Amino acid sequence: MGDVITVLGPIPSTQLGVTDAHDHLFLRSPALAGQEFEDVDSATKEVASGKISGLQAIVEVTPIGLGRHPAGLRAVANATGVHVVAATGYHRDAHYPEGHWVREASVELLTERILDDLQQGMHPDDWLSSAPPDPARAGVIKAGASYQRISRLEERRLMAAAMASRQTGAPILVHTEIGTCAHDIVDLLLREGVAANRVILAHMDRNPDVELHSAVAERGVKLDYDTPGRIKYRPDSQLLDIIEGMVSAGHAGSIMLGLDLGQRDYFRAYGGGPGLTYLMDTFVPRLRKRVGSEVVDRVLVANPAEAFSWSQ
Ligand SMILES: [Zn+2]
Repeated sequence: MGDVITVLGPIPSTQLGVTDAHDHLFLRSPALAGQEFEDVDSATKEVASGKISGLQAIVEVTPIGLGRHPAGLRAVANATGVHVVAATGYHRDAHYPEGHWVREASVELLTERILDDLQQGMHPDDWLSSAPPDPARAGVIKAGASYQRISRLEERRLMAAAMASRQTGAPILVHTEIGTCAHDIVDLLLREGVAANRVILAHMDRNPDVELHSAVAERGVKLDYDTPGRIKYRPDSQLLDIIEGMVSAGHAGSIMLGLDLGQRDYFRAYGGGPGLTYLMDTFVPRLRKRVGSEVVDRVLVANPAEAFSWSQ
């Protein structure tokens, strides 16, 4: 396994530790008006409490154009000692207003900017200025698809993600909208020459279908279950059932966990919940009772170390 690229530099994947495999510390999107969170002190407070709960690493997958804050991520990592892996790449269409450069750019330009973020350092304001790159490199490529469809523009962005992954060995984490289009996304990325073990599908627990998840896992792809505590979607007991089902089907090596706190209201530091301690304080103890500590360690430590290390 290669290194994991954190905002403070590369580390051996064995040092990553207990990992929240999908989360956000800074975000702003026209699709989530009024729910932006951009404060470094609040993020630091939230991550410090997450660390006390047992988290050692956070994969922060806010992509280009959604209020990424590389300097803020470095500040949080420095203040707390928690490893932070940051994202480059692009989200689904809904997050880019008409006229945004991400909508107009060619596949070549989309690829070039991903490669700059991965290799030189993240652009501090996503190419809206001529500022020099931040010292923090991105460690994962984000992509996204819409509900039940991959739009023409999303396909271009997935192709750019594929090209950049092929050149660097960086993993690609794809937002699925309510867990739809899983096989189509994998088909597209494999067609573009990406190795299946470089692909992570997020939000699959929004579509709690163990047979589908098993079929996706059998293709060599990893799945993010990233909505524990999101009771408006379903009770945690149902997510525990899915994980237990996947483990019984032999897929413990294919799943990872995160909280995907993608709105201001989800953070304790902004007065909401469930907050970043929810994974380790509330969900994981229940999971441990269901599947045992060995499987929990695999899901929280070994699988992210494998998924987020860059292939050589
Ligand atoms: Zn997310």
